[in-house]
Amino acid sequence: MTILERYAAMDYGPAPESRTEADAWLNAHDFSKALFIGGTWQAAASGKTFTVLEPATGETLAEVSEAGPEDVNAAVRAARRALPAWSKTSGYERARILYAIGRAMQRHGRLFAVLESIDNGKPIRESRDIDVPLAVRHFIHHAGWAQTLEKAYPGHQPVGVCGQIIPWNFPLLMLAWKIAPALAAGCTVVLKPAEFTPLTSILFAEICARAGVPKGVVNIVQGGGETGAAIVEHPDIDKIAFTGSSEVGKIIRRATAGTGKKLSLELGGKSAFMVFEDADLDSAVEGLVDGIWFNQGQVCCAGSRLLVQESVAERMLAKVKARMGHLRLGDPLDKNTDIGPLIAPVQLERVKSMVAEGARQGAECWQPASDLPQTGYYHLPTLATSVAPSNILAQEEVFGPVLAAMTFRTQEEGVALANNTRYGLAASVWSENISRALHVAPQLKAGVVWINGTNIFDASSGFGGYRESGFGREGGHEGLYEYLKRPAGKAVYKPAPRPEPQPDTGSNTPLIDRTPKLFIGGKQVRPDGNYALPVTDPKGRIMGEVGAGNRKDIRDAVSTARASKWHQATAYNRAQVLYFLAENLAVRAAEFTGRIASLTGIRPKEAAAEVDLSIERIFAAASLADKYEGRVHQPPARVVTLALNEPVGVLGIVSPDDAPLLALVTMMAPALAMGNPVVAVPSARFPLVATDLYQVIETSDLPAGSVNIVTGDSVELAAVLAKHDDVDALWCVGETQLCATVERESAANLKRVWTSGGLAPDWAGDAALLDDFFRRAVEIKNVWVPYGD
Ligand code: NDP
Repeated sequence: MTILERYAAMDYGPAPESRTEADAWLNAHDFSKALFIGGTWQAAASGKTFTVLEPATGETLAEVSEAGPEDVNAAVRAARRALPAWSKTSGYERARILYAIGRAMQRHGRLFAVLESIDNGKPIRESRDIDVPLAVRHFIHHAGWAQTLEKAYPGHQPVGVCGQIIPWNFPLLMLAWKIAPALAAGCTVVLKPAEFTPLTSILFAEICARAGVPKGVVNIVQGGGETGAAIVEHPDIDKIAFTGSSEVGKIIRRATAGTGKKLSLELGGKSAFMVFEDADLDSAVEGLVDGIWFNQGQVCCAGSRLLVQESVAERMLAKVKARMGHLRLGDPLDKNTDIGPLIAPVQLERVKSMVAEGARQGAECWQPASDLPQTGYYHLPTLATSVAPSNILAQEEVFGPVLAAMTFRTQEEGVALANNTRYGLAASVWSENISRALHVAPQLKAGVVWINGTNIFDASSGFGGYRESGFGREGGHEGLYEYLKRPAGKAVYKPAPRPEPQPDTGSNTPLIDRTPKLFIGGKQVRPDGNYALPVTDPKGRIMGEVGAGNRKDIRDAVSTARASKWHQATAYNRAQVLYFLAENLAVRAAEFTGRIASLTGIRPKEAAAEVDLSIERIFAAASLADKYEGRVHQPPARVVTLALNEPVGVLGIVSPDDAPLLALVTMMAPALAMGNPVVAVPSARFPLVATDLYQVIETSDLPAGSVNIVTGDSVELAAVLAKHDDVDALWCVGETQLCATVERESAANLKRVWTSGGLAPDWAGDAALLDDFFRRAVEIKNVWVPYGD
């Protein structure tokens, strides 16, 4: 035998990790009392339990108590009781506790890793080297935020009691992503792990008790979807943080509508893994192993769509197949295992049926000739080629080791293909040309973009999606905002009274008759329905008539906003245009003052103050347009993360009756400053202020489509905007009922919605309002840029 032959014949021997300590831990526990409520271990009030199976063997690991509504109630009560003291605990003290949790997790790192691999089936290399260290890092990083909270987030308070629901794919890491920022912010939590994977959360709760977490600050209730629903629906919870499927995310969006609960959703993905012809193909293939076969592909940001440039596609796919043939399926506790079992039979069946359906729809599905282990829920790594963009494997999240490959010719085509999904969680870009990669990254509709890398995470850098991948960020500076609040207002919002219109004596008729229209695509247009609505002063005298916009007018406004190139204008350009808008409004300040005073009945002095402040706000927004920039993070690796502030997209604004000019510009100016085209529905009672404003807009160099104004019944138009699938974000100030409707109707495309929740913001007095709208006007994209050889 030659040395070469001997080398080729060599195979890996087994390298098993011991499970002795984990088994001892399992044997020492009575899991029928696994609810951690108010610092004590409890059985479910109903006495119910559920069975936890080991994915690699199908054998029973534990019978775990299943929390029902009564137990959820008890947990919420405990969290509520603990809140006042915990939220007042000094940042330093909270930091010490978070640090103690992190260090204790580190000390028990191997036990956590082995338990996680037994419970979830993920290879020990991953749980040991990725899940556990990242979870530890999250606590230690957030210890720092706890201490610097007041300085870093002035004027903010903890949001309160948080209900947190996590999935089974990263049980410990998702727990850390939820609990660490909540505790840092001064919130208390009720967390529900997934039914498939409760074990590491139980070990974590034991650590909390030892690390000095006060009783009731962390409560962990085990159970399934019904337990999750009981948390979502609980009236005494202030915030829901959810990670899981987009389907359940939408259910939760609807269930929390109108409740005032703050909501963050980390949902599914269909992330693109783009390989350009100038990529280092061997590195890209290794990246792909981490991209789609990491955790058996049960990863929300898995690079499940391989988009490869046509000129290198054949070579790339040949390399991928060769590499797939060397992936080792087997015991998750073997240190040489690349691919473990899927979580459960139901998941295995789901993956198999999706592969079969993909093949039926024309994809060619290839698998290496590897042996499947005798027991467990294993699925071979699968490569699907000849995949049409509409194929189920290109569109739906498989959540398994299945890669759908497609090709593109030009960069433009590649970007279009990458964005051809309703999701927007992550993307990878492979190219040795850094200029190209940095040019492509901002064009991708995804919350995270890895350049020449994939599936890299760090507590310093926010993680979260665009589009139906959910909203909110976990980790980083931005992640803390999910656990903080600033009240939207103190007073309850009431629409301005509508007096009976008086008979028109003609006393207000202008010399030449005026027809205020809608403002769509840079033009004054008649409303589609050709109806007009009277606008009166407080005494009921007719001051004019405005168009009654309808669904079609909103549709036209949204499509012209979508086509506008405003987001491509440079920040400097946007600043200049806004300054010019302020300048032109100042020229007509007297006219606006008169209009506001006569329409609303306030004194001319007050009206003048509203106009002055409106001009100042536009000026302030202009000044920030080229300064409200992102951050640069330095995770502990040879990589920098550019946290870029990108416009959220087409933005709907439903403006209130109070301070009709000031409210509209306080929302519109930051939206425009950050590059968002706007569809505004102005005050229904005083719309003439907005129809006057479009005349100022017309002379201020705002490009067609960047601002659209549709007057009419704002309640009706708000619902249309909320339902519209091409609106990316919606801000609505109005009565409780309207805010609830808007939140509920927004669920279909999971647009980013902010409502005043039935309250009236203090438009003149609250100096931080503009900052809030700036924050809502951007979506943060984290672009990971590696460096070094
Ligand atoms: P789910 O979205 O159903 O589960 C996520 C979490 O929510 C679990 O803790 C679950 O409980 C809980 N839950 C389920 N229903 C409700 C509800 N109505 N209200 C509140 N909480 C609820 O995902 P599944 O585990 O069922 O997986 C189904 C598919 O979802 C997967 O095949 C995969 O495609 C996708 N998925 C995506 C994830 C992601 O991060 N993007 C994560 C997990 C799944 P329990 O599981 O205990 O029943």
